[in-house]
Amino acid sequence: MSDIFVYVESQNGKIVPVSLETLGAARIVADELGEDVTAVVLGSDVTAVAEAAFDYGADNVLGCDDETLKEFRVEAYGPIVTQLVEDNDPSALLIGSSTAGRDVAAWVAADTEAGLMTEAVSLAVEDDRIKATRPVYAAKLLCDAVIPDSLQIITLRNRAFAPAEATGNTGDAEWIDPVVDEDDLTTKVTGFKAKEGGMSLTEATIIVSGGRGVGGPEGFEPIRQLAAVLNGAVGASRATVDAGWIPYEHQVGQTGKTVSPDLYIACGISGAIQHQAGMRTAKIIVAINKDAEAPIFSLAHYGIVADLFDILPALEEAFQERLG
Ligand code: FAD
Repeated sequence: MSDIFVYVESQNGKIVPVSLETLGAARIVADELGEDVTAVVLGSDVTAVAEAAFDYGADNVLGCDDETLKEFRVEAYGPIVTQLVEDNDPSALLIGSSTAGRDVAAWVAADTEAGLMTEAVSLAVEDDRIKATRPVYAAKLLCDAVIPDSLQIITLRNRAFAPAEATGNTGDAEWIDPVVDEDDLTTKVTGFKAKEGGMSLTEATIIVSGGRGVGGPEGFEPIRQLAAVLNGAVGASRATVDAGWIPYEHQVGQTGKTVSPDLYIACGISGAIQHQAGMRTAKIIVAINKDAEAPIFSLAHYGIVADLFDILPALEEAFQERLG
């Protein structure tokens, strides 16, 4: 029987949210195909991650636990996943669409000459193959695609799938040796600088985002305050990033982050197609803009035609009152 492999990414001994979502999606597809879900766990001191993978529904766990895998480096991780794929011949490899996940997907696809579909937002089974639905043309269209006759490598967009639930399942992981020695790895990780400003945009359930309408760096203050009250993250349009009002890590859009929060509040953002490409899969979109003709209103579920500096403090106060 073939397996569906799931590349399971972890941080500080915990499976990251997008990998839990990938395990959840894999279970549904595997059950339909009558296949097993095999989690691929790599890292250093990752026994607990392997146990968690079983708990979240994996039938098998294959992996490598080694000091060379302490920090993510694709030239250490990629060859191991390739070897596991070549040794076990799975029908598919599903990977959460994180920065590391995308690196691994590209590496293994190149090594094995497999087909690769990125940013799937939904999966189905058709003629014993996985059909992925994915945004194309800057998310203007959704396209259904299949990989007809090779290993199917598919990356899954953050927050597009329900996470796997704990099952209480247990098992014994199988571990292999690393493929590349430390001496042969050209990248050395010398340290990390902690990121300021907290929540990851791609994992946030609520995003309050500012555009050129905020008028300058200080205009992001009411955006930050509302985001704090809502326990959300701060997003931004490219115009504000290019102007140096806010760092690039906040940029949403075609050349920034792709996000799918439950709620996206766009403040003073016109809604250019390149911005929409990064946020149009948000479940609820609220737009605040002075211009009733702004394109963002054609996408928004709720629109407020007003000055953002009048509306944001009022929203902050109202949410503060309700949420405490
Ligand atoms: P504007 O288009 O200038 O809109 C500002 C809006 O604020 C206006 O609608 C105005 O009515 C409103 N406003 C002004 N004052 C107020 C106020 N006080 N209260 C309420 N509303 C107010 N853009 C991205 O965002 N992300 C990307 O990843 C991205 N990638 C790109 C890639 C390429 C190759 C190219 C060519 C462009 C890309 N862009 C991207 C840029 C994009 O085309 C737009 O230029 C940009 O999104 C506009 O940003 P904005 O909406 O903040 O500014």
